[in-house]
Amino acid sequence: MSKKQFVYLIVSLLCAYIAMYAFLINVYVVTFFLTLFYAYEIKRDHREVNDKITHENEELMNEIKTTTQDAYLKQKQLLTMVSNIPSPLMLLNEYGEVAIYNSHFNLFRNSIEEIKMDYINNDCVEPVAHFIKDAFIFERKFKKVIEVDGKTYNAICIPVTTNTKFSGCVILFQDISEAKEKEALQKMFIADASHELKTPISVIKGMIEILNREDFDDEQTKKEFLVQIDKETKRLEFIVRDLLQLSRLSMNELILKKEFIKMSEIIERSMNSFQVLANKKGIRLEKQFKEDITLNVDEELMITLFNNLISNAIKYSDHGKVCVTMEIENEHLIISIQDEGVGLSQEDCNRIFERFYRVDKARSRNSGGSGLGLSIVRSICEAHQASVSVKSKLGVGTTFKIKFKVNTKS
Ligand code: ADP
Repeated sequence: MSKKQFVYLIVSLLCAYIAMYAFLINVYVVTFFLTLFYAYEIKRDHREVNDKITHENEELMNEIKTTTQDAYLKQKQLLTMVSNIPSPLMLLNEYGEVAIYNSHFNLFRNSIEEIKMDYINNDCVEPVAHFIKDAFIFERKFKKVIEVDGKTYNAICIPVTTNTKFSGCVILFQDISEAKEKEALQKMFIADASHELKTPISVIKGMIEILNREDFDDEQTKKEFLVQIDKETKRLEFIVRDLLQLSRLSMNELILKKEFIKMSEIIERSMNSFQVLANKKGIRLEKQFKEDITLNVDEELMITLFNNLISNAIKYSDHGKVCVTMEIENEHLIISIQDEGVGLSQEDCNRIFERFYRVDKARSRNSGGSGLGLSIVRSICEAHQASVSVKSKLGVGTTFKIKFKVNTKS
């Protein structure tokens, strides 16, 4: 190899070497920039993913916040609803734990402390604790009447289901004491009314049976019986009339035929209709009207009211006078019916407004009393937002006072 060839070879080798390095440097540079580019892209992707996750997280947080607020609101609404229910109420969850109860329910507890209660462990009084246990165990709708502290409750269990699965129950205690009391009073009233009606009917029936006997020919007894039958028939008529009057007055939808009437006119009319009876018994009828007021009242009912009080005053007096007074006291019109009759004990004064209550049964019956007159008086007063009271002394006399509001325009 010539020297020249050798130099060419070396130069070629050098060139090849340089070219190879240049290529390698290029590759490095390209790789470097590519790496940089990919690193940037990855970072950008990462940031985008991060942003997306952050956004999604924010959305999720907002959703949780709204749901929590909703749940809180719903719970608050439920609590408000439960606490506004005017009867003791509680809610057992699917595990038999007391989830909610209202303040009325505390009536049944031995303390008012906020403690965890369930269907077995609670501080409720016996009949209530028993009902709660049954309510959770039975898992069905049922009712039971229970007594707590002298009050009667209708305990009702209503099961709550989620997808047909038992998930607890609502227990409600309705106070039915008043309804029970009314029912008892009604039963007593029906029994009393039947008894009152039965007595004259039995008397009439017995006498008719005797009069119908073939061998009966006693003219004197016949006359006496006919008088008695007439008396008993009238009594029946009075009882039926007063019963109808009382039932009309106790109707919730009682409509009063009100008109403006001078009270003196009504009282005078009533006094006049009893003048003959008073004369017969030697009793003076007097009036002292310091005021004369026009009131918006039901005329027919007012006549009944004064008829009952004035006739009683004559019926239960054997001498003296019956005086009706009218005056104004503290924006009230006070009408008093005062007699000098047999009088009443304090115990009787407390009871005479009860239906069929009579102090002297024989005297009441003989004078055609139904035992309902004063109950009717009280009902008429109530219908006119007035009040009636009685003051009496045995052997001295009795005073009934009716108090009307003077400015009543209704
Ligand atoms: P009665 O039809 O028996 O008179 P009332 O309801 O009018 O029924 O009265 C109830 C009872 O109150 C009477 O039976 C009577 O014993 C008593 N009583 C009512 N008014 C008087 C009075 N002015 N003086 C004494 N007792 C009275």
